[in-house]
Amino acid sequence: MNPSDPLPYEEALSRILSAISPRAVCQVPCGDAAGRVAAEDVPALLDLPPFANSSMDGYACIAADTAAATPNHPVCLRIVGESAAGHAQSAVVASGQAMAISTGAAMPPGADAVVMVEETRPCADPAFVEILSPITPGQYVRSAGEDVQKGAIVIDAGTLLRPGAIALIAASGHARVRVHGTPRVALIATGSELAMPGEKLATAQIYDSNSLMLASLVREAGAVCGPQIRSTDDIQSLRSVIEGTTLQKADMIVTTGGVSVGQHDYVKQLVSETGEIDFWRVAIRPGKPFAFGRIAGRPIFGLPGNPASAFVTFELFVRPALRRMAGHADCVRPTIGATLTETVEHEPGRKSYVRAHSEWVDGRLHTRSAGLQASHRFRSLAAANSLLIIPEDRSRIVSGETVSVLLLGPE
Ligand code: AMP
Ligand code: MG
Repeated sequence: MNPSDPLPYEEALSRILSAISPRAVCQVPCGDAAGRVAAEDVPALLDLPPFANSSMDGYACIAADTAAATPNHPVCLRIVGESAAGHAQSAVVASGQAMAISTGAAMPPGADAVVMVEETRPCADPAFVEILSPITPGQYVRSAGEDVQKGAIVIDAGTLLRPGAIALIAASGHARVRVHGTPRVALIATGSELAMPGEKLATAQIYDSNSLMLASLVREAGAVCGPQIRSTDDIQSLRSVIEGTTLQKADMIVTTGGVSVGQHDYVKQLVSETGEIDFWRVAIRPGKPFAFGRIAGRPIFGLPGNPASAFVTFELFVRPALRRMAGHADCVRPTIGATLTETVEHEPGRKSYVRAHSEWVDGRLHTRSAGLQASHRFRSLAAANSLLIIPEDRSRIVSGETVSVLLLGPE
């Protein structure tokens, strides 16, 4: 391969990921940890459940006592008190006895099962209860440690903390958890044609839609947006914007536009002057004019200006980098096998990422193009919920073929 050739996608991604490390670790209250990534293995500080308890409202008793019970010939047990949730109960249940018990209350010593209230009948003498059917030992008993044993690792380092994981960590005895910092991204949109949405457009202007799209993608990736700046295609103004971001609080800089071979494309030149370019150009469609480098110790991603190209290069390169920074063990979206439901023509030479619409039909993913694919078009971008990957050597993929798809979205 000639050194000036565009890099294959895989090499570009691996160069990016090897240049990025997870952000520093901090400790946060469990209540603030949703969406963060565990920075270390989390051990259980206690058994779950912590003590044997009932999974039903009913009566704790000895299963063998109920062997002969039927609705016509119920077994009568003497009630020896109550075990209520949150109250210690040390009284022992002996043969011929039962203790009223509520869901989550501790099993009294001696009892080995629970008969649910619906399988009982009150007796004329309120000191007794009638059991209508036999139960087996252990029935409706949640034993101590059956879910988690004290000392076991309940969450692995690198795990995204979803609400269920927060519940597990809290139940395991932790009030706080160590997580990685959330990456903060500075966004710079370049282009003298750009106006803010809401402003009146002058001749030859367009709205800066990339900034809003990229800010949404940053948030969707679990990161936060730092400064959002626009620059004209003027080398002095772009220089001061790029140099200015190095003073801003940001872990990463993402630019759009001005990274190709046009006369006013200064991003590469300014990154080389202020920091260094690692590589420029990737053999993908859309998104070939993409640059990656460093400025003042921070990664900088130069995305192309065309909206579809900016979107795809963010998905393929910036998102995995943000996930690595946030500490995720898995940084790259999995590819999923899908059935193509229409024939797609393809120009060989570069690996393509077609904006596509995919849906599950009878447990199989069906995929079709989301519309015309030129990289300035918004309709197919807005209609896409997935990217269909077409290998560089294919000129056509026929309806019915199995293809690889990336499903877009938060996870
Ligand atoms: P460039 O990469 O600067 O050559 O821009 C390529 C195309 O993307 C041009 O048609 C630009 O007008 C358009 N473009 C650049 N930046 C943006 C932006 N922030 N929002 C929408 N379109 C843009
Ligand atoms: Mg431009």
